[in-house]
Amino acid sequence: MVPPVMAGRSKSPVDPSPDRGLAVARTVADLRRAVAGHRAAGRTVGLIPTMGALHEGHVSLVTGALARGDVPVATIFVNPTQFGPNEDFATYPRDEAGDFARLEAAGCRLVFAPDKAEMYPGPQLTTVSVAEITDGLCGPLRPGHFDGVATVVAKLLMMALPDRGYFGEKDYQQLQVIRRMVRDLAMPVEIVGMPTVREPDGLAMSSRNRTLGAAERAVAVSLYRAMTEVAEEVRGGQASCAAATAAAARRLLAAGFDAVEYLTVVDAESLRPLDRVNGPARVVAATRLGRTRLIDNIAVGPQKQAPETQRKT
Ligand code: AMP
Repeated sequence: MVPPVMAGRSKSPVDPSPDRGLAVARTVADLRRAVAGHRAAGRTVGLIPTMGALHEGHVSLVTGALARGDVPVATIFVNPTQFGPNEDFATYPRDEAGDFARLEAAGCRLVFAPDKAEMYPGPQLTTVSVAEITDGLCGPLRPGHFDGVATVVAKLLMMALPDRGYFGEKDYQQLQVIRRMVRDLAMPVEIVGMPTVREPDGLAMSSRNRTLGAAERAVAVSLYRAMTEVAEEVRGGQASCAAATAAAARRLLAAGFDAVEYLTVVDAESLRPLDRVNGPARVVAATRLGRTRLIDNIAVGPQKQAPETQRKT
């Protein structure tokens, strides 16, 4: 039995009582017992996988689960297998106490926060790999990344057996990979994609924003602006996507970005690059600003408001 961690209420992870309070499960066995308890009490469960360093974007997933009547169950695990050898696994922000407080305040009931040995008790000989959707964008730039994501999400879904899984559109390619994995493997879970939560100036909230210096933070806002300009230009097939994105990438470099890894307009489902928009499409981007890698995306469509009023896209 794992001791409860929240300062306020003492709560066991296997306690399915409907009152408030966050329980912490460190083992798969405790997670399963807690979820089974909620299920036995007639509740549905919504799983919210995260890597911690939580912000309002993550909170919106908890709120989304509550809005659908699910008991929100978050997971916090910085998954080493989705980081490349030269990526930021070691420096990825970690703040477990802050995360637990934020989850409890948001109405989350249970958090699964395993250590590496619990997630990977022995050599992992099985990998879930989703083809085609991972051929472009972050796929070739981060070899092995989506295999790591798909495999750990598959494991978390099998461990928790939730009714629904909540994922952010902020990581749009990841969302499409997970949707496809669930479909192809007939996993008995509904995947809910939630809109991106943004800062008032339009910057998508991200755990990695914590590593931006003040000057970089001022530059970072240009990414959302550039994406909205591209979306406006290419809407309805009125302009070439290649021309619009090439010009916008030049503007980002001029604004102070160190690199634009890609800035592309893609089909919203297949993620194949488009030259003219003639159906559901996304503007997708990956950039580097100092030591921070920022990714973002928005829908190409008729909806466009000032960033102040548009906290979500
Ligand atoms: P992460 O902790 O970055 O792995 O993200 C965990 C989940 O939160 C993923 O489903 C992300 O897509 C989602 N997420 C991250 N940032 C945001 C955001 N700004 N708005 C909505 N969802 C987000």
